[in-house]
Amino acid sequence: MEIIRDPKVFQEKILELKRSGKKIGFVPTMGALHEGHLSLVDIAKKHSDVVMMSIYLNPKQFAPSEDLKNYPSNFKKDTEAAQARGVDLVFAPTDEYMYPKGFQTSVDIKEITKGLCGAARPGHFTGVTTVVLKLFNIVQPDVAVFGEKDYQQLKVIERMVRDLLIPVKIVAAPITRENDGLAMSSRNAYLSHDERMAALSINQALRMAKEMVAKGERSPHQVASAVRTHIQSSGRARVDYVKVVDPETLEEATNLKQPARLLVAAFFGRARLIDNCLLG
Ligand code: AMP
Repeated sequence: MEIIRDPKVFQEKILELKRSGKKIGFVPTMGALHEGHLSLVDIAKKHSDVVMMSIYLNPKQFAPSEDLKNYPSNFKKDTEAAQARGVDLVFAPTDEYMYPKGFQTSVDIKEITKGLCGAARPGHFTGVTTVVLKLFNIVQPDVAVFGEKDYQQLKVIERMVRDLLIPVKIVAAPITRENDGLAMSSRNAYLSHDERMAALSINQALRMAKEMVAKGERSPHQVASAVRTHIQSSGRARVDYVKVVDPETLEEATNLKQPARLLVAAFFGRARLIDNCLLG
């Protein structure tokens, strides 16, 4: 497995592969790889001939007050895990390669980035869409895999691809969980033992919400309020949001007659965890 840092060298490699008729699969990551990331590689393999992974901790999607400096990283372990899973090429640029002197372009997507994580993390999605479009231009993938764990991100990327006619197929990957139900996340590494136990309340609350709807509850407000109460009762959570939204537009759902998505963000200590599930 080759590791390339220079975007131009990477682009040339890709052009060679494309000329020989290979279908390119792509899994963008920020490193600190876990089974959730690696499940995306498995999916990419099913849709392509060669799998590219980017490992790049993108500073533009972190606000100055956020955890960029402390974000876990272990490049050697990541590349070993990627190789073992069958990644063919890793793109691991430096900031100088991604944002050289004079860089001043950004991609802004309006409505769908306003609420949820976009409201809590101003500028975050501009950082995400800018880097993902640049990565798409470098990797030129036929297929790119994104996790449903970051549900708003997935929908924002789908919107960008549709709006800008980017010739890539976006494939959504289901959320990979620990055995006890906690959604896998690089940020779980920040949790103390007690915080981790309390964080299980998120998945418990999602399951409870599904049950409420299965038993006939049709009020998004009632569901969201029960979810919030359950997570707060763990004693260690600071809930950022609990929202029931339209699965495509992410606008707040007014009833649960149609399928909706329940999205949650909550702090446990310094870890901001997000999770979600389909309702109905
Ligand atoms: P990140 O490194 O956090 O930017 O994540 C890279 C990709 O992995 C994104 O598409 C995430 O949605 C996806 N991902 C992260 N955690 C999980 C998980 N537990 N299950 C599925 N996909 C995930």
